[in-house]
Parts: sequence; C-alpha cells; structure tokens
Amino acid sequence: MGPSSGLDLLVLAERAVLPGGTRAAALGVRDGRIAVVVDLDRRGDLPAARQVLELADDEVLLPGLVDTHVHVNEPGRTAWEGFDTATRAAALGGVTTVVDMPLNSVPATTTADALRVKHDAARGAVHVDVGFWGGVVPGNTRELAGLVAGGVFGAKCFTTPSGVDEFEHVSPAQLREGLAELARLGSRLLVHAEDPHVLDEAAEQVARRVAEGADPRSFALFLASRPASAEDSAVADVVAAARELRGLGPGGAQVHVVHLASASALPLVAAARAEGLPVTAETCPHYLTLDAAAVPDGATQFKCCPPVRSAQTQDALWAALEAGVLDSVVSDHSPCTPDLKLLQEDGGTGDFLAAWGGIASVQLGLPVVWTAARERGVPLERVVGWMAARPAARVGLAGRKGSLVVGADADLAVLAPEEELLVEPGSLAFRNKVTPYAGQRLRGVVRSTWLRGRRVDGADAGARPRGGLLHAAGGVVEDGPA
Ligand SMILES: [Zn+2]
Repeated sequence: MGPSSGLDLLVLAERAVLPGGTRAAALGVRDGRIAVVVDLDRRGDLPAARQVLELADDEVLLPGLVDTHVHVNEPGRTAWEGFDTATRAAALGGVTTVVDMPLNSVPATTTADALRVKHDAARGAVHVDVGFWGGVVPGNTRELAGLVAGGVFGAKCFTTPSGVDEFEHVSPAQLREGLAELARLGSRLLVHAEDPHVLDEAAEQVARRVAEGADPRSFALFLASRPASAEDSAVADVVAAARELRGLGPGGAQVHVVHLASASALPLVAAARAEGLPVTAETCPHYLTLDAAAVPDGATQFKCCPPVRSAQTQDALWAALEAGVLDSVVSDHSPCTPDLKLLQEDGGTGDFLAAWGGIASVQLGLPVVWTAARERGVPLERVVGWMAARPAARVGLAGRKGSLVVGADADLAVLAPEEELLVEPGSLAFRNKVTPYAGQRLRGVVRSTWLRGRRVDGADAGARPRGGLLHAAGGVVEDGPA
C-alpha cells in the first residue's frame, strides 16, 4: 500500500504527546498502525481518511498506556477479577497494553501448560492487548524455556511468601538458578523483593505488641511489620545476583524489582545501574500518592505489600523517577473479594495484619499519578513516559507500544487533563469495586481509548472484546475477534 492510499483514521490534536515533546499534530492510521505523523498545519498533505477524530480544545492525545503489572487472576480466582473486567477497566483508564502476573490465577503461570490454559482463558475475552509473565518457583527451572517459547515477557519470583500457597517463594540460591536460566534464554527475572528474615523478625515484634494489647486495626502496626529494611536487604541481594551472573546470555542477567517502595533501596538500584548491571525497578501510583500517616486505622483498602510509607518516601520515589533510577509507574492492580479485605463497613474486623494485601487501581493510575504530578509541577509528558514508553521499552515493545511514532500500533488515549474526576466505586469496571481512592477528587478524565485504530467500547458491560494476545518472542499479536 503506497503513501497515497487512503487512511482508516485521521487524528487531529492541538496537543499530542510525541517522543520529542507535546505539539500540534495530525496522525494517520492505516491497518491498525500509525502510518504518518505530521504537524497539524500540514494535515492538508495527508490522504483522505474514512474516519476523523478531532480532539477538543481541552483534550490531549496520548499513546495508550502500558501497564506491565496487573493481576487478572483468571482462571481460578475469577471472583477476584477476570480478563473481561480487568481489561475493560484498563481501557477506561487509557491503558491499551496489560501484562498479566503469573499469580493469583489457578493454575499459576509456572509451566508451559499453565500458560496455554491462561491463553485459552484470555483469548477472545480481552478489551486491550494482553501479554503474560511467567513465574519462577522452587523446582520449575526446566519449565522456563517452554514459558519463554510460549511468549512470556519474563518470569517473576518472590523472595518471601507470596500470599498464595500455589506460588512458593524462592531462596537466594533458587533465585540465582532461575535468573541464570532466564539470562541464557535472553529473558528477564522480576522480583518481589522483601527479605523474609527481616519480615519474620518484625512480625514477631508486632505479634508481641498485639499480645500486649496493641490494636491490629492500626496501620502503624502493619507498617512496622513490613519495614523498608526488608526491601533494602532483598534488593541488595538481587543486585548481588545480577553482578555474579553478569555476562550470561545475550542481554546479561536482567533483573527488575517490582513495586519498589523504600527510599533507602533507591541508592542500591542507582549504584547497580551506574555499575552497568541490567537492573531496573518500578514503583506504583499508591506509593507515589498515599501517605501512611493519613491511612485511617481499619481502612484495609489501603493494604498492600510492601506498604505505602511516609511523605518523605514519596518525595524520594518522585526524585528517583526524575533521575531515571526508577523506570516506570505501573498499577500492581491486585484485587480480591471484599470479604478478604475484612472491611469494617461490611462487618469485617478491619484487621490490617490479617486482611488481603493488594490495591485495585488499573482504571485510575493515570489520574492518580497525574493529579500528584501536576501539584509537583511535573509535566504530563513525563508521566506518560513513565506509564507508556518506559514500561514498553523494558519489555521489548519499544516502537510497537507506548509511543506515538510511525510504525507503532495506533493505541491512543484521549485525556482531558484539567477535568475533575470524582472517584465513585460505581464507575469502576473492576469486578470488586474496593479501592483506596474512593471519594477522591482527581484531575484527568480519559474521554476515549483506541486500540490499534479502533475505539474501545470498554464502558459497556457486554462490549465486544477486540484485544489480542501479545507474545514476547517475535512480538506477534494473536489478534482478537474481528
Ligand atoms: Zn503484584
């Protein structure tokens, strides 16, 4: 098809977030990909389009966001979440690419067979494009080649109990065994990094305080049970493993620390990167915006592991994003049924120590982070970099996802950045509408989301799912229903 043949979609925006900055642009889309990008005043040079999307004055065109940390939980824990609801919520939040975590589905994605089961559950059921992480658990090293061949973007392990029995944590030796195999395969290891010994010690002290009458509904008590030093110790070991195994495989021993929430772990990551080790780390909207001092006792919708910490930690995480020490902001969307949260308004105990840890936010990440960024004077294009281009690049999807460049999939989000958004649980598409952001007034409304050149009708239950399955090996999209 030559440059003069017609476009499927022409997008006209006074403000478009492009790799070089925000400017007025016209984008032509053909066959689901961005075929051409020109200055808006050169729109007349473009061939005719079957459909035109002209943004309103208060709207900004963004690349669809890339959320590489989502727990969809299907199959197996579909009362918690599922592909239909999670990806509809993603689309409503401007997210067009999701990478699903290997737990808390049953089976966990720790074998090639389990990956096939997950593909079968997702096929034809997703509203955005979805890729998959595998898992590293004790004894599954020989499964990793099959998982990588099956298209996973890497594999995740825990250094401490994960919260579900079927996904066991690894010892430092097992972590190295998994990392070495993934390096050999040209893939990467994700690590939930908290030191179980530090956590055990903290838990003992907390149990003593409860025995002496401390209230288990206290957030401060929960915070004491998951100290930052547990993260620091585990991150130090992850860096040591990357150093010991450097030189293995085509890309080295690539390790990525998920949901980093400790200010004192940041210098360890920075030093590893300065040393040239392939170590990266992400953080999440809640760590950037929720202040431990403001969490009411018993408000277990705020519980996640590691926990949200102090305002000073938030400042350090923002600075680390600015400095490139943290490469991305992803949701760690991890819902469960309300009963497991032990919510007091539902008659639960509000026990922070016993409640399920996990925050649901895939639909809200952009307005949550943008609202805080705006107050800090951080421009929108930086936020978009952390939530789209950087996570896409980290999983090998640069040029395909997360950027408005010629050749990329035409995944778009239309954002009204100044419009106020009142977070009402009823407007959330997740299966369980429990979120710490309920009642918050945020800035930034996603007016529409486009996947490979087509508008996603995510708002309607029963909307036709048109998302595809992403395979890391070869970057193939197994397309959704036409
Ligand atoms: Zn997670």
